[in-house]
Amino acid sequence: MLKKTKKPSVAIFGLTSCEGCQFAILDLHEKFLELTKYIDLDEFRLIEDEKERSHYDIAFIEGNPVTTENLHILKRIRKISDVVVVLGNCADLGGVWEIKNYHDYKKLGCYVYKTCKTLENREVIEVPKAIKVDLVIPGCPINAQNFLDLVYSVLNKKPWGLFQNPVCWECQINKNPCLLQQGKICLGPIALAGCNAVCLNSRQECWACRGILDQADEKIKNLIKIMQNHGWSLAEILEKMEFFGARDRIEAALQKPEDKKKS
Ligand code: SF4
Ligand code: SF4
Ligand code: SF4
Repeated sequence: MLKKTKKPSVAIFGLTSCEGCQFAILDLHEKFLELTKYIDLDEFRLIEDEKERSHYDIAFIEGNPVTTENLHILKRIRKISDVVVVLGNCADLGGVWEIKNYHDYKKLGCYVYKTCKTLENREVIEVPKAIKVDLVIPGCPINAQNFLDLVYSVLNKKPWGLFQNPVCWECQINKNPCLLQQGKICLGPIALAGCNAVCLNSRQECWACRGILDQADEKIKNLIKIMQNHGWSLAEILEKMEFFGARDRIEAALQKPEDKKKS
């Protein structure tokens, strides 16, 4: 009788999130079921509650560590996992919740909750600022095919990465009219492609949920100038960039070199 070999242990954790990225994985249907033949799925709350394990080969983290408990979970996952992968915009860039960082977030809590004095209302931090992260799958939600490709690559000990193409590239392959040329705020020229320009296909501007391209500082400055020439103020442009947590990256690019040295 053949000896049964242990399959790699894979875990999918959700911190504070809408769980949309986890649902995107379930939307893979048969492809996801096929994957489960090659792995032990030791944590995926959307399917079943599992016992805590002492080791994972690959741990995926969706959502943001907005509470102390979330932070403890995150640190524990890092300690016991060989490869930690960030899953989606909330975990990678702070997501929609990061909007509160750009305002008086202590005060904002009191607009929403009656018991705001005892409310745990921390500043939002991205997962890569809290722990060391090995790989990132961007998007809100993720492109689930990226998830599948990544798992198979890690299982086969092959490198995995995404092409650094802008969203404009996919937008123009799809023959969409350019919203930037029409005077709208569109981050397509500096946003990482891979979503098939889904927003532009519905005539909605790109707000860079997949993050900003590497080494895009000059492109960011040029794009801001174009939008300002269309009559937008810097404050209005930055406000749109808050939505998916891209504002920090944009502000860092706009800093003068001497300010960058100080920070
Ligand atoms: S990245 Fe978007 S879809 Fe994914 S969990 Fe966060 S809010 Fe939901
Ligand atoms: S609409 Fe946006 S994404 Fe499309 S080409 Fe224009 S700037 Fe690029
Ligand atoms: S078009 Fe922009 S905002 Fe829309 S899914 Fe793609 S990267 Fe995200």
